[in-house]
Formats: sequence, structure tokens, C-alpha cells
Amino acid sequence: MRRLRLRCADCGEVTLPASEVSVSGTAEPGRVNCSFRCPVCGGACEQGCDVATGRLLLLGGARAKPAAAPAPPPLGLADLVLLRELLNRPDFVEIMGRA
Ligand SMILES: [Zn+2]
Repeated sequence: MRRLRLRCADCGEVTLPASEVSVSGTAEPGRVNCSFRCPVCGGACEQGCDVATGRLLLLGGARAKPAAAPAPPPLGLADLVLLRELLNRPDFVEIMGRA
């Protein structure tokens, strides 16, 4: 098992088995988060890194964690106007069924 070198905020550089690291996407394009439990202090650590580093971690055996679903944007006035128009249409249910 590959061992990865990561950084704990309290302990500095630590090494741990790749399988104990998870990599997840972030809302920010081009960045990923890797999270792990520090083998020294036991604290939950999270470290942002670029996609290339994240890919290296995954190749080294880290687990991919699905990113948290991004929150949908709030409905705006334009959405409400559109919805109002759609509701007026006799084929509204059919349109929504296709969406
Ligand atoms: Zn630590």
C-alpha cells in the first residue's frame, strides 16, 4: 500500500496509507479537497489542492468521495414569470413530464 504525505494543521507533515485519504471535488473549479484523519493527533484534517495533485493522490490509492451536491440557485423573478406562463399552458403536465 502506498503511503501518502500530507499536512496536518497541528502536527505538520504526516504520512498515512493512501486508502485513508479521500479526495472530493469542490465548488471551485480546478481545486479538490483531500480529507483524512491525522495518524498522530487523530484530528480530522482537510487540505485543498489542485486537480493534478488530487489525481496523483487517486492514482496512489486514495478514495474518491463524491462532492456534496451544489445547492441549486434560488428562484429569481424570471423563473417565477416563466413558471407562471408554464402553468397557464394546457399542456403543462406534459411539458414537465418531458423535463
Ligand atoms: Zn495531527
